[in-house]
Amino acid sequence: MSDLDTFRADTRAWLEANCPAEMRTPMRSEDDACWGGRHFAFQSEAQERWMRLMGEKGWTVPDWPAAYGGGGLTPAETKVLKEEMRSIGARSPLSSFGISMLGPALLKYGTEEQKNRFLPEIARGEIRWCQGYSEPGAGSDLAGLQTKCEDNGDHWLVNGQKVWTSYADKADWIFCLVRTSTESKHGGISFLLFDMESEGVSTKPILLISGYSPFCETFFDNVKVPKDQVVGDVNKGWDVAKYLLGHEREMISGMGLGSGSARTLAQSLGAIDDPVLAADVALFDVDAIAFAAMSEHFIDQLKAGEAHPAMPSMMKYAGTELNKKRHELTMAAGGSDALEWDSERSHGGKAAREWLRTKANSIEGGTSEVQLGIVAKHILRLPGA
Ligand SMILES: Cc1cc2nc3c(=O)[nH]c(=O)nc-3n(C[C@H](O)[C@H](O)[C@H](O)COP(=O)(O)OP(=O)(O)OC[C@H]3O[C@@H](n4cnc5c(N)ncnc54)[C@H](O)[C@@H]3O)c2cc1C
Repeated sequence: MSDLDTFRADTRAWLEANCPAEMRTPMRSEDDACWGGRHFAFQSEAQERWMRLMGEKGWTVPDWPAAYGGGGLTPAETKVLKEEMRSIGARSPLSSFGISMLGPALLKYGTEEQKNRFLPEIARGEIRWCQGYSEPGAGSDLAGLQTKCEDNGDHWLVNGQKVWTSYADKADWIFCLVRTSTESKHGGISFLLFDMESEGVSTKPILLISGYSPFCETFFDNVKVPKDQVVGDVNKGWDVAKYLLGHEREMISGMGLGSGSARTLAQSLGAIDDPVLAADVALFDVDAIAFAAMSEHFIDQLKAGEAHPAMPSMMKYAGTELNKKRHELTMAAGGSDALEWDSERSHGGKAAREWLRTKANSIEGGTSEVQLGIVAKHILRLPGA
């Protein structure tokens, strides 16, 4: 037996013994996701136990170094773990901006003290982060941000406003882009971390037409931040911001792989009478298989630090288009029943709500138009890439 076979057998046995049965069922809605953090209300004892056990093993972040709360697994072992989790339908133990966005940026740009302080807490689901990038006048043109951060001797003083801050009202801490200098647009930005309970931080939820309120306006009024909470060099935060965005785009591109089930769309929809729809579903599955292969290749290259700079944008664009198509076909196959919004039979309009949510995929993390612009600049070697 090779080392990897032994690892697979041990992993399978551990998952069998530790993954609660309830955590092997598909999520009914977004509300089933486990976010962790100081104030998180777990849906069940099983959800809490699953996050804790995986966190203790470092398997919420299997490929992070063990010294920072990760599993210390090799890329091959990480893939085996994911395959074994998929094969029993195990839910992700933790959904976390700390894992998918801040963690990689801290691993690359953080001081040793920052890594020791924040990464193990992220891995164990003890701290929930939100992302303070967008502002009312700075979305796609992110470097146009105006939130002011002044050096006040022994602390920073932050004043300004963010918008579309997902789950800001539920987060413990924020990773935030602030303006520390006005001399240069890209060269005057810093990447700052601070506690959402700091005096002067307030949030106002934005209510959507769906009835949900996933994001907020976030206000900073004379917020004092300790000096050692800048990640990377002062005024060089744009490099950290871009690196983090590459990881955010990788995470969003993963939506193109569907909900993690190994099944094809044709298998999950079952028999389809309409031949045109059946052909569209078959074509979709071919694209989805090609995307899955491409995605695996991309993630291998990204982890090895060898990904082409256009790749995160390319994969984000392709993955979000694929996810939108998947849900359009699911709606088409469901007919008018799929439009049911608030009934028990439709699980609170699960299909329709998921379909509508996919529309946001091509906006969050940078719009599709902007991704295509980035790809063109890199591939055609245009200025500003
Ligand atoms: C579900 C969701 C969650 C989000 N969560 C967060 C979060 O947690 N934190 C956070 O900071 N932000 C978050 N955002 C905000 C998101 O990052 C911005 O909405 C996005 O960057 C676009 O910026 P904007 O809304 O200001 O649009 P704008 O920049 O005003 O763009 C408007 C339109 O113009 C187009 N456009 C703009 N510039 C160009 C260009 N150069 N070339 C071609 N077309 C262009 C855009 O593609 C778009 O169609 C979230 C957004 C969504 C939808």
